[in-house]
Amino acid sequence: MSTFLADELTGLQTQIAGDVITPTDVRWDHARQAWNLDVDQRPVAIVYPESADDVVAAVRFATANAVCIAFNGGGHNAGTISWDRPTLLIKTEHMRAITIDPDRRRARVEAGVLAKPLAQAAGAHGLTFLEGTSPNVGVVGYALGGGLSWMVRKFGLCCNTILSVEVVTADGRLVRADHATEPDLFWALRGGSGNFGAVTAIELELFPIAEVYGGALFWPIERAEEVLLAWRSWVDTVPDECFSLGRLLQFPDAAEIPQEMRGRSFVLFETAIIGDAEFGASLIAPMRALGPEIDTIEMMPTTELTRINMDPNAPVAYAGDGFLMTDFTAKAITTTIDLFVGSPLVHIEFRHLGGAAARRSESHGALSSIDDPFITFTFGLVSAANSHDDTTHQVNRLLDGLREWNSGHRYLNFAETPVDPRSIFTDGNYDRLRQIKAQYDPHGIFQANHRLSQDQ
Ligand SMILES: Cc1cc2nc3c(=O)[nH]c(=O)nc-3n(C[C@H](O)[C@H](O)[C@H](O)COP(=O)(O)OP(=O)(O)OC[C@H]3O[C@@H](n4cnc5c(N)ncnc54)[C@H](O)[C@@H]3O)c2cc1C
Repeated sequence: MSTFLADELTGLQTQIAGDVITPTDVRWDHARQAWNLDVDQRPVAIVYPESADDVVAAVRFATANAVCIAFNGGGHNAGTISWDRPTLLIKTEHMRAITIDPDRRRARVEAGVLAKPLAQAAGAHGLTFLEGTSPNVGVVGYALGGGLSWMVRKFGLCCNTILSVEVVTADGRLVRADHATEPDLFWALRGGSGNFGAVTAIELELFPIAEVYGGALFWPIERAEEVLLAWRSWVDTVPDECFSLGRLLQFPDAAEIPQEMRGRSFVLFETAIIGDAEFGASLIAPMRALGPEIDTIEMMPTTELTRINMDPNAPVAYAGDGFLMTDFTAKAITTTIDLFVGSPLVHIEFRHLGGAAARRSESHGALSSIDDPFITFTFGLVSAANSHDDTTHQVNRLLDGLREWNSGHRYLNFAETPVDPRSIFTDGNYDRLRQIKAQYDPHGIFQANHRLSQDQ
């Protein structure tokens, strides 16, 4: 870091209420950690804004000093950020205010709010937002990147339930973008992620669903082929009220895993069904008829949705990736089993999309729909026994084995390695995004997890 920048950063600290942390600070190594502990974030400094005013000051500082800006909200997709230019990392974990308007069914969340607290705040009013599997993803990062929730087949992508965005643009203005004001910026943010400005808060639509019929069925992994084949046939019969995924899990022999699962491997079916127990039970009857060893499916509050997938509560070191699929055929199933079972990988999942996920609308943002019917994601833990390179090799080996069903399209939130941005958006939307980027961020100071081009 140059002396000049050090002096300027000291100046920034005097202008904002939050902390500015530099590499000489004893808190540096902890501060630069992402949620994935295998990621090496290399900013020039880290800013912890306490308010939108602090964010404005940080953006003005960056513009004035030709420094880029990157973001950690929940920090779940930090591995793809490029640090090849001097970059200030904004960590929004001190901006966690939530306001629920139950009458208008909307929530305003500040930039650092995580999924579980929002689910609980909305749930207190019998409402839910379109929440994914993890309790601790950042709501803003998740929603700006698309947002595949447990209800995506019924209500579409979470990004298209954003009602307004409060955002600081590269010229240091705090604006409120919605359908009527700054409509291009509003359109771009809904799916285009952090490429266009520093978001300080978003307003999201809430849905009057207090309970779902949800949970998981577990079978020993030896039954993987039979169960996944049955699930694949079954998904063709279900209505949009039903979201489900098929999954293989190889639990490590670790103390934090429940005793009955520790060191064991399973094939799972997980679901969330909008409707009552009678409706849900009749829908899943063919899957239940396969006689699972463990059955957790019951009526459950939507505040507990993140329990279903058992995503980790705390940061972990892992390597993973995924892509959208044209189909999940019998051959894809046997290929998956051959490559996954006995490998050091922990997890592979196949989510069933379709329904509202694939329905476009003029009122939507830059990611209007996802047309492919399935999406996969796999990961392994990085540890002393399995290095980053070894685990990445296993992930790539498995995904390469599935390339026949790779649609060539990527879903930004599930892309944990840099991807060609043209694979995320339709051609027309990609071109429009680049025009809006040039208009709102001509010097390319905002470094999103996925850039719109290498020359930004
Ligand atoms: C265990 C796990 C489970 C997951 N489950 C799901 C799921 O069910 N469905 C799904 O769709 N995705 C899921 N994801 C992916 C997740 O949605 C993405 O990783 C998402 O980017 C996480 O947001 P974040 O704030 O936690 O990440 P971050 O790394 O903090 O942010 C990701 C990106 O969002 C943008 N961003 C964040 N904050 C701001 C801001 N204040 N201003 C401007 N831009 C900002 C930036 O481009 C940033 O690089 C999961 C990920 C993990 C690790």
